[in-house]
Amino acid sequence: MSKHVVILGAGYAGLRALHELQKGTNDIKITLVDQNDYHFEATDIHEVAAGIQTSERITYPIKDVVKTACTTFVQGRVEKIDSENQLVHLKDQEAIAYDYLIVALGYESESFGIPGVEEFSLKMVDIPTSEKVYQHLTEQMEAYKETKDENCLKIVVCGAGFTGIELLGSLHEGKKKLAEIAGVEPEKIQLYCVEAVTRLLPMFSEKLGSYGIDHLKKWGVNFLVGKPIKEIKQDTVVYLDNQETNELNELKAKTIIWTTGVSGSHVVGDSGFAAKRGRVMVQPDLTDADHHNVYIIGDCSAVMDKESNRPYPTTAQISLKMGEHAGKNIKAQLKGEPTKEFTFKSLGSVASIGNSHAFGEVGKMEVKGYPASVIKKMIMDRSLFETGGVKEVLAKGRFDFYR
Ligand code: NAD
Repeated sequence: MSKHVVILGAGYAGLRALHELQKGTNDIKITLVDQNDYHFEATDIHEVAAGIQTSERITYPIKDVVKTACTTFVQGRVEKIDSENQLVHLKDQEAIAYDYLIVALGYESESFGIPGVEEFSLKMVDIPTSEKVYQHLTEQMEAYKETKDENCLKIVVCGAGFTGIELLGSLHEGKKKLAEIAGVEPEKIQLYCVEAVTRLLPMFSEKLGSYGIDHLKKWGVNFLVGKPIKEIKQDTVVYLDNQETNELNELKAKTIIWTTGVSGSHVVGDSGFAAKRGRVMVQPDLTDADHHNVYIIGDCSAVMDKESNRPYPTTAQISLKMGEHAGKNIKAQLKGEPTKEFTFKSLGSVASIGNSHAFGEVGKMEVKGYPASVIKKMIMDRSLFETGGVKEVLAKGRFDFYR
């Protein structure tokens, strides 16, 4: 009887695993589960939040990549994994039994228990939350027309990580459209970023990180660095202004967007896997330590980088590689062959600051400015190709290289 492989999550890791498993295997049945009927490019959601891209442009239907001869797609919300009985429990649907399981449930916004984050700030983690950010922004611009309250024109991004920086770049580009709604000049819309540490973007050299920050500063973004956020109140960010005296200060704004980091899906910890911030330290072959038929990949997974002796950072690039590897290892297990150790060599990472500027590293080379933005688009097209194939690249790829 053919074995049943269940993949949870149709993000970068899950879809890449699906492709691998759908390639030349007759003796398996695959079920792919996702709460949405579409895949979204998680690296591009800041553009939707800033209103410079529509969500249609960064999504495609999951059915486009499902080979119905071997794969069934189930739209449903995973609530719990019962790894002892090899069952996946879904909300209001029948449980699914598996022989092999790939857990690729992605990430969630991390509040670090800071009071008021859930109530008074906007998350930006998926399509609905990103669309909500843009809707909120347009509402504030409309409100300004009525009230002339300057706080309606203030936007605070909390955290200057990769996500915060890319969001600020897109918000700068989105200012023109927002200003038109408010009936003001774009310069009247003020962008702020409050960041806890002083050494920003530690994945890059100090010089390269400063290039990105200085670029945003030139565009008028106000940075408050070395100012950990302690609380979010209604229309207010409360931050530690002086670490010696413990003096707090407040920044008022009608739009507060929370981008201080992510954790893996809560489902993983809730299901009894040994997760820390939703990430499980997996075996070198990407399986769970206690279950050799359960692969945990993508943002739910932590894999040790032997060179740095720290887990690899979560990126789309590593998620894609993990997906491919998990798929290959399951195929090996089905043939009675041993699984292989996961190895990863980062090709580098590039952060966009708007549509035609970027900075980052490709291999050992530092890239910045317009050429970096071209590389960034090529990276985005490659990711799209790896999950969606040629069809999605032709439909949704980035080819606006020419100025
Ligand atoms: P992050 O952890 O990289 O950055 C979060 C930032 O928020 C940090 O600078 C941190 O110091 C700051 N912060 C945390 N708590 C704070 C507080 N209380 N007050 C003020 N600042 C605070 O998180 P991210 O930017 O959400 O990215 C998550 C992961 O996804 C990272 O691994 C990142 O590299 C990856 N990512 C990659 C890309 C890409 O490759 N293009 C894009 C986005 C995200």
